Amino acid sequence: MYFAVHVYIAGMVENATLQCENCGSEKFYALVQYGSYFLKCYDCRQPVVATSLIAVVPLLNGTFEIIEVDEKMNELGLIAEGEIGSYVGIIKQEASKGKILWLKKRDVAAHHAE
Ligand SMILES: [Zn+2]
Repeated sequence: MYFAVHVYIAGMVENATLQCENCGSEKFYALVQYGSYFLKCYDCRQPVVATSLIAVVPLLNGTFEIIEVDEKMNELGLIAEGEIGSYVGIIKQEASKGKILWLKKRDVAAHHAE
């Protein structure tokens, strides 16, 4: 069961096939707090699914901005940016303090524009 959830999340992040049960949105925030990785609907802010951070890190490919946010998704500051694998230690350290970290994936267009 745990493994099934793990794979399900990987597919969702890469293909954006998951829909929010509440509003039907297909966009989600990917968030980390303490040892948990969870998704929150971009439109209605409903939490969608959660797993452990460690389970999902190997599946997070690409370039991300790691942004500290509050409960209302206000951006409080940029923690780091780059490949998630390079910053797992920082993410774990900051999230363990109770900070909410938004793993904001850079889209391909933005990446190419640099
Ligand atoms: Zn929603």
